[in-house]
Amino acid sequence: MKIGFIGLGIMGRHMAKNLLKAGKEVVVYDVVKEAVDDSAASGGQAAASGMEVARESGVVITMLPNSPHVREALCGEGGVLEGIRPGTVVIDMSSIAPGTSRELCALVEAKGGEMLDAPVSGGQEKAEKGTLAIMAGGKEEVFSRVKDILDIMGKSNYVGEIGAGQVTKLVNQTIVAINIAAVAEGMAFAKRAGVDPERVFGAIRGGLAGSQCMEDKAPRMFEGRYEPGFRVNLHVKDLGNVLETSRDLHISMPLSAQLMEMMQNLTARGFGGLDHGALGLYYEMLNEVSLKK
Ligand code: NAD
Repeated sequence: MKIGFIGLGIMGRHMAKNLLKAGKEVVVYDVVKEAVDDSAASGGQAAASGMEVARESGVVITMLPNSPHVREALCGEGGVLEGIRPGTVVIDMSSIAPGTSRELCALVEAKGGEMLDAPVSGGQEKAEKGTLAIMAGGKEEVFSRVKDILDIMGKSNYVGEIGAGQVTKLVNQTIVAINIAAVAEGMAFAKRAGVDPERVFGAIRGGLAGSQCMEDKAPRMFEGRYEPGFRVNLHVKDLGNVLETSRDLHISMPLSAQLMEMMQNLTARGFGGLDHGALGLYYEMLNEVSLKK
């Protein structure tokens, strides 16, 4: 059985290569031709549309920026739904709105296919190493059928019905954003109070305030090292999906709303391409204080 892969960007190109390395036959497509050529050079079978990918494949994976791109790849002209065969499993590994996953799943099922939402955590490096954390939603039986394929790209976890993978990813993005901001706020406070933030980090990292976010982002703040990593504008996209979903659910998420403002402010100042650790830079500008050593 061939595996289709649509979306060969920063993440997808490595995930598709890991499937090829594992000996799978992979049919690849992206709207950018160079991306298709690059995957074809690694052994992928180039396709000219999502429809062509779907005609050839028993499983179709998508790894695209956001909800509109996945909708277009599946439902647009020459899209996956025009070529899908009964029994084909569509696995959307992009980070999109949970409501869109549910809508698209119904359309796939109407054509006799199955769909899972399976977004990932871990950036380009983990995509390359095949060590992504994968959170999958959909029918558990369908998940079991494709788990071996997912586990080539990382470690998969089943979290519930369709959309549950996206909800899990949004929970992750909310907690990470708030955690980075908490680190930046604390360190700016230390600096203004005349205590070296790096010494503060050394003193508290082993206690309750310690976290993977602090371990990764605090040293970046002290060095002013904000190359991505995970870009601010991608986090803005994810927080947009958090807030859109929270509105539908009538749940108040004041910290997520605040984090959206803070990251939007970084974007407005031209820092959207930096790592989300640049929340340190936000606090530096807000307080005219430097976190650098
Ligand atoms: P990217 O922008 O690098 O890649 C997306 C690819 O999709 C591009 O090559 C683009 O040409 C292609 N594309 C867009 N619309 C298309 C269409 N209709 N048909 C075919 N191809 C199309 O994005 P990325 O960084 O690889 O991220 C993909 C997803 O993974 C996003 O949802 C992102 O939030 C999520 N994610 C990214 C990271 C990261 O560190 N980059 C980490 C975890 C999750």
